[in-house]
Amino acid sequence: MIDIYDYNGKFTKDAALGQKSWFKCGGTADLLFEPDDIDDLARFLKNYPLDEPLLVLGSMANCIIRDGGIRGCVIHLGKPFADIEVKGTKIMAGAGALNGSVASAAAKAGIGGLEFLSGIPGTIGGALAMNAGAYGTEVKDALYAVMALGRGGVFTPLDPKDMDMGYRYCGAASGNIFVGAVFEGAVEDKNLVRKRLKDIKSKRQKTQPISEQTGGSTFANPSAEYLAKAGLPEDMRAWQLVEKVGGRTLQIGGARMSDKHLNFMINTGNATATDLENLGDELIKRVQDDCGLTLHWEIKRLGYK
Ligand SMILES: Cc1cc2nc3c(=O)[nH]c(=O)nc-3n(C[C@H](O)[C@H](O)[C@H](O)COP(=O)(O)OP(=O)(O)OC[C@H]3O[C@@H](n4cnc5c(N)ncnc54)[C@H](O)[C@@H]3O)c2cc1C
Repeated sequence: MIDIYDYNGKFTKDAALGQKSWFKCGGTADLLFEPDDIDDLARFLKNYPLDEPLLVLGSMANCIIRDGGIRGCVIHLGKPFADIEVKGTKIMAGAGALNGSVASAAAKAGIGGLEFLSGIPGTIGGALAMNAGAYGTEVKDALYAVMALGRGGVFTPLDPKDMDMGYRYCGAASGNIFVGAVFEGAVEDKNLVRKRLKDIKSKRQKTQPISEQTGGSTFANPSAEYLAKAGLPEDMRAWQLVEKVGGRTLQIGGARMSDKHLNFMINTGNATATDLENLGDELIKRVQDDCGLTLHWEIKRLGYK
């Protein structure tokens, strides 16, 4: 059993995670642990039974926390894991650092190549686990090294090429808790890098519902081969499939798709996590029935209904 007094970090019982997620709805976690530092985390992992459920979450910009909540323990890496350091063309960032802060630190030092991170809400831990990407660049393209702890608390340096990273997927996320990463950029004119950050910001504001209660892309874009197999244009995006099956006007409880971007689901104010999930499942069903193609959730649905 875990004795919470053995650790310096903070424990919260029945933590209201859903309300802290980007969707601002959903259930609680039985136990939330926010470690004080890496030793605190390693000690906790060493003592936490391997057969008990354990989950690590960042800023929950990519999750629906189901209404029935999450069993076991959720680890959140906060401020003690948010350091960012620039050395030459390398940027070291803790898993709790915000993507936007990493992009800004790189820009300030005149390092280009990490601007894509600036528009992706969330932490470095979440970005690694999702191989987050935007505008043609993904985390794996700029990654130099990753530091992780295994379930038993053993420190595990990871080489990105062994991490099995693909489209919004990272095989190494299962069984590992990422604690930090080293990115590599290239020396560039500071003003140019800053301008690219500004451009990304204004593009985001125009095309995404960033001030809404949302969770990013609901569905992964189907591959060109899969679309072709279903007899659909190879460049069709998930939002176009949502539009094709009436997703623009569909509302379930307080959940609907955003007018600004039809692949972004939003909580209009009183949605439950069940409303959000039912909306996504209904769209998947319609696309399956109408187009013979299965859309896959990009948003993680966590916990019990
Ligand atoms: C408005 C908006 C726009 C978005 N635009 C984009 C975009 O352009 N591109 C894009 O890729 N995504 C986008 N997203 C989705 C989201 O920002 C990314 O998936 C982001 O990487 C999630 O980070 P997070 O810290 O919030 O992770 P969370 O949502 O908290 O967790 C996501 C996954 O990562 C795992 N995880 C988190 N931390 C760790 C860790 N330390 N170690 C191991 N696993 C961990 C969790 O277990 C979970 O499976 C957008 C979201 C929003 C709300």
